[in-house]
Amino acid sequence: MATPFNETEISVIESIYAKQKSNYFTIGKTKARERIQKLKKLQNVIFTFRKELQEAMWKDYRKPAAEVDLTEIYPVIQEIKFASKHLKRWMKPKRVAKPITMIGSSSWIHHEPKGMSLIIAPWNYPMQLLFAPLVSAIAAGNTVILKPSEFTSHTVDVLKNIVSEAFEEQEIAVVEGGVEVSTALLNMKFNHIFFTGAPEIGKIVMAAASKHLASVTLELGGKSPTIIDETANIKAIVPRIAWAKFVNAGQICIAPDYAIVHESKKEEFIRSMGQQITKHYGDDAANSSDYLRIISPKHFLRLKGYLENTIEQGGKIAHGGTLLEVENYIEPTLVENVPMDSDVMKYEIFGPILPIITYKNRQEVIDLINSKEKPLALYVYSRSKKNIKYFIENTSAGGTCINMSAVHVGNPNLPFGGINNSGIGKSRGHYGFLEFTNERSVLHQKLPSAVEFMAPPYTQLKQRLID
Ligand code: NAD
Repeated sequence: MATPFNETEISVIESIYAKQKSNYFTIGKTKARERIQKLKKLQNVIFTFRKELQEAMWKDYRKPAAEVDLTEIYPVIQEIKFASKHLKRWMKPKRVAKPITMIGSSSWIHHEPKGMSLIIAPWNYPMQLLFAPLVSAIAAGNTVILKPSEFTSHTVDVLKNIVSEAFEEQEIAVVEGGVEVSTALLNMKFNHIFFTGAPEIGKIVMAAASKHLASVTLELGGKSPTIIDETANIKAIVPRIAWAKFVNAGQICIAPDYAIVHESKKEEFIRSMGQQITKHYGDDAANSSDYLRIISPKHFLRLKGYLENTIEQGGKIAHGGTLLEVENYIEPTLVENVPMDSDVMKYEIFGPILPIITYKNRQEVIDLINSKEKPLALYVYSRSKKNIKYFIENTSAGGTCINMSAVHVGNPNLPFGGINNSGIGKSRGHYGFLEFTNERSVLHQKLPSAVEFMAPPYTQLKQRLID
């Protein structure tokens, strides 16, 4: 459990910071082989804590063991394996061409670590979103202070044990705590800050980073639309939407936030979604050991408020709608007749409520999406190549799946991230490595340079050459 923030805690943070500061050049000089060994060690330690991770996440918000394996441990192991396989190549100096005027020199990009990095993570995937960027930071040769979310205290205890078993704190350390601890860390001078969380907090992080001109990666959120057009094969696509929306009880940054369904498909879509939800979680999801709870009373009340506001304004529950406050339970819920100015269409939902909006023509879809901030993800379900092209070309988003939702984050060959309000910078695989790397330009002059011939005095001959 996060301890209250006090002077002792500040001195602990300062001591870790000082140790990392005196060590980061040493860490930065490590070879690919050594970094791969560190990643392998992290992998082995994670496996030894598998049971503890499963138990802790169940206690925190009833995350099923299978989902701990699939959505927390597996993505981190995949990152480790991918980075280990490619690291030698990523680190290799990259020769580049030169203009004719630079004859006698050679140029290359030297990959050096940014240095001291800070990773701040949210609670919804408490391990994946802390350790996936950690893998990139280790691969790039950085020291790291990790600040997990204060809302998953059981999991944080295990993560702390994993990190202290795998690393010395002068290289990598976990600092526990909430906003005060985060603020204290943000006042310190880091070379890079990797933040995952809400856009409003992202702005605070960016403002703090600007004081030291630290570079930032901001993995934020927003309202990710899911378009279902008149050609979509509802039976085939509904399992993919229902899974992505209700896994983790909708507490995913890339969950379909709202569905925009062609009016001819609305009835079939709602009916199939209802059936699919029952298939996943039974007649009463409250009794399903595969369905999570909302992380905290605060978030439960936020979602309850959104739902009440939407119903007051004319929205209608099309499926679900049961809430149990004692256990922060919200049933997988579909809402139709949703007014545009209701809370579920104004704010990122981040919970198991899916508003369903209908449209008649494609322009309405574009107008709705582009009236909001650029989303982290946008999903298009269609069998029409023309429609798919149209929807993609007329919108902007961090990432897109066609006839699928959310899984693009699982392909380490793709950059993952948002755009503007949904994020700045990209993560995962090589893109993650680059976020924690300074691509340093090096030019080595081997023969006399053209500059020497062209230096003052500018004689008539030199002037003619310039002309
Ligand atoms: P949050 O922004 O409230 O918290 C994230 C982290 O920031 C936590 O560690 C928290 O302690 C810290 N924090 C909170 N307030 C702070 C402040 N005022 N100053 C400094 N630090 C502060 O986010 P959350 O509730 O944990 O997670 C939900 C949000 O995260 C959603 O918006 C979601 O879309 C987003 N998210 C994005 C991604 C992504 O990859 N893009 C992934 C998961 C979640």
